[in-house]
Amino acid sequence: MAQIICENLTLGYDGKTILKGLNLEIQKGQYLCITGDNGSGKTTFMKTLLGLVAPVSGRIWASDGLESVQIGYLPQQTQIQRDFPASVYEIVLSGCLNKTRGLFYSKQLRQRAFDNMKKVGIEDLAMKSYRHLSGGQQQRVLLARALCAADKMLLLDEPVSGLDPAAAQDMYSIIQSLNRDGMTVIMITHDMSAVRQYATHILHIGSDVFFGSKSEYLAKYSL
Ligand code: ADP
Repeated sequence: MAQIICENLTLGYDGKTILKGLNLEIQKGQYLCITGDNGSGKTTFMKTLLGLVAPVSGRIWASDGLESVQIGYLPQQTQIQRDFPASVYEIVLSGCLNKTRGLFYSKQLRQRAFDNMKKVGIEDLAMKSYRHLSGGQQQRVLLARALCAADKMLLLDEPVSGLDPAAAQDMYSIIQSLNRDGMTVIMITHDMSAVRQYATHILHIGSDVFFGSKSEYLAKYSL
């Protein structure tokens, strides 16, 4: 059963169309890689899935018991965000915000933040300042933050961008193990070797739009 269904979806801003007539279904446990040139609409699609950008037309809905509070998002990092003055623990805990009642984080939510720091191997950095971490450590902090929000689905916008090969491999391994544990992963990437290795499905956005399984994609484009 599909968790997300897009029907005849047209994406854009202020009525201006970027991508037309998108039909697809995302099933639980899939690892969907979104590829395409810069400016083709990958991030816009992700923001539309998150409800941050309204579709120009068409329908998009969640199914199979998926609720918006069960989706975690790791956006692309800007330089300003890299200098954010907070501790690792504070940043990870802020991912639980959609689960708080009132102004306070419960003991369970604080435990959830700690468990997710452990999952991505940053529990020793909890009290460190985020701005003083390496790029790879910062991405793991943001992944732990996204996991605090995500119970079922993780949306990642170029999660290894700017990382050295070892840090990128660490991120990919963590994401793969989350996916193996049942998390649906939707990842924007330009890294075709990662697509080959990890994707179950591919959405390619360009003059030609493709959505299907990885094997269909590789066969269609003779890759
Ligand atoms: P990609 O992620 O594939 O690089 P984007 O989804 O970021 O592409 O952008 C697709 C197009 O939408 C680009 O032409 C971009 O300039 C435009 N765009 C992005 N954000 C906005 C916005 N907030 N308002 C208007 N146009 C935007």
